[in-house]
Amino acid sequence: MHAYGPVPSRRFGRSVGISPIPEKTCSYSCIYCQLGRTSRMTIARQHFFPVDDILADIERVVEANKHTIDYLTLVGDGEPTLSADLGDIIHACKTRFPYKVGVITNGSLLWMENVRNELSEADVVNISMVTSDPDVFKGMHRPHKGLSFDKIREGIQLFAATFPGRIWAEVMLVDNVNTDSGDLRELRKFLDKIQPSRTYIMTPTRPPAESWVRIPQPEKILMALSVCGGETVTQLEHGSFGLDEFKTAEEALSEISRRHPLRLNQARTIEAYFAQRSLDRLIAEGKFRIVDYQHHKYVLPSEFMFGTSSAGRG
Ligand code: SF4
Repeated sequence: MHAYGPVPSRRFGRSVGISPIPEKTCSYSCIYCQLGRTSRMTIARQHFFPVDDILADIERVVEANKHTIDYLTLVGDGEPTLSADLGDIIHACKTRFPYKVGVITNGSLLWMENVRNELSEADVVNISMVTSDPDVFKGMHRPHKGLSFDKIREGIQLFAATFPGRIWAEVMLVDNVNTDSGDLRELRKFLDKIQPSRTYIMTPTRPPAESWVRIPQPEKILMALSVCGGETVTQLEHGSFGLDEFKTAEEALSEISRRHPLRLNQARTIEAYFAQRSLDRLIAEGKFRIVDYQHHKYVLPSEFMFGTSSAGRG
């Protein structure tokens, strides 16, 4: 299933997620990633799936939820710009549906001219920008070895110079990794060159790939906000999930949780919608597990790979 939702998004409202790439395919393996460690690390753009299949999935989700959608969002189970069909998908979304189109990208491939061109029809492109320090960048994103910090920054600047839509900057804060005030001041200079229409100061609110990742204390979040400007997105999202296109609770839990980790109470609400008690059985069968994080219980697919020691830190 390439389209799902709508899911409640802290930035995109009720958002239909569109994933044009296979599971956990990314150019980074971020320490804070809510999808666990990257299993398919690549910077090679590919035609992963037939575009018609992706569009048929979008059509189906839109048809079931057409009055409750704010955005169609290309987000993927990793980095969506790895799809060589990105431009065609965005173009089809813009011509077939009356919704805004957003893309959530780590920005690592914007040095490629075709990626910049393919994104040009999107309404909003949300780009990760977390640090001005190449070593912090490397420790936080653990990028593909074919990527360079300078090239990525240059790509983001080239994109910002010509993109007709809106750019949103996403500054994900991890305590004691990118919370140094000097680094953030340098980051602000870069943000001033990009001139995003919104800057979101975010924290890892869902279980991160590395268990030692911590949400900064409120005073550090406020410091980052005063240095970088923008607004904070540090609360958990609220709202219901679009479930009409799913036939069973198991299908809904599987499809949603591998893109959008669910809190236990959200998973129970989904079960109740279908009047089916599937979750306990799925946990007993080893398909899901419960993880405690920041005073909440999360239901995660068992295949997500999470680190449990501090060995990879740095
Ligand atoms: S947070 Fe985004 S960019 Fe980082 S590893 Fe996860 S999917 Fe890739």
